[in-house]
Amino acid sequence: MSSSAGHPSGANPVMDHATRVGNRLLAALPPADFALLAPHLRKVVIERDSVLVRSGDRVEHFLFPLSGAIAAITELPNGQTVATSIIGHEGAVGLTSALGASRSPTTAIVRLPGSALQISPVQFLAAQHRSPPITSMMQVFTRSLLTQLQHVAACNALHSVEARLARWLLHIHDRANGSDLLPLTQETLSELLGVRRTTITHVVSTMRASRALKSSQRGQLEIDRPRLEAMACECYKVMSRKIDRIVSHGAVGLVHGAPARSVSHSPGSRLSKAGS
Ligand SMILES: [Zn+2]
Repeated sequence: MSSSAGHPSGANPVMDHATRVGNRLLAALPPADFALLAPHLRKVVIERDSVLVRSGDRVEHFLFPLSGAIAAITELPNGQTVATSIIGHEGAVGLTSALGASRSPTTAIVRLPGSALQISPVQFLAAQHRSPPITSMMQVFTRSLLTQLQHVAACNALHSVEARLARWLLHIHDRANGSDLLPLTQETLSELLGVRRTTITHVVSTMRASRALKSSQRGQLEIDRPRLEAMACECYKVMSRKIDRIVSHGAVGLVHGAPARSVSHSPGSRLSKAGS
């Protein structure tokens, strides 16, 4: 991960208990296991449009977002791009390299600014070797990511551009702290969906006509969430529910050191707050 991953937002936080952490993966760790990571975590600001790591580059940091949204983008040799996942406080950036590969398979770009806890892979892996719960947390992360990738693959093959755009906007809105103004340009949308700008212009026009988008000016989209939900494919609710369940069940298993229990969730519920 490049040095542009983020910049320090202040003094190193002193966090004596995992439940104080706003990232759901870290918050799920028992305090003694979180304490192995805490001295090495550095809080950084992640700025809009900053590139956290490029595809093929060596991963220099793992980032656990506390807020904001990061798009993982797959780039083809001809320059075409498409988003394969959106990462917020329920996930991590760069962590797939802990599975063995030292180079990033995707480019990670900040789409909503926020903050994150940053740690070097060496320090993370040293802690992981001493902590079965950190290894379990890695498994939770991997299952969550695979679930998202599988659904995005199906969605890209089966659903319309309008429905897919509505889904991506809802995923991003879930991480926008309730703001209906999303800092997204048409170029950004083109990159997310892997379609041409002319297609995006047409889709945005259609969404404005149906009032799912209230405005689309000066690099910002103002959304109408209920109308977007009506326009999105079912993938949005299915993916949100599954990922929430994986992270929530994983947290239960980590805290109690036992297999996850069944937890009920309402369909389509937004991603739970950290530690909830
Ligand atoms: Zn879909």
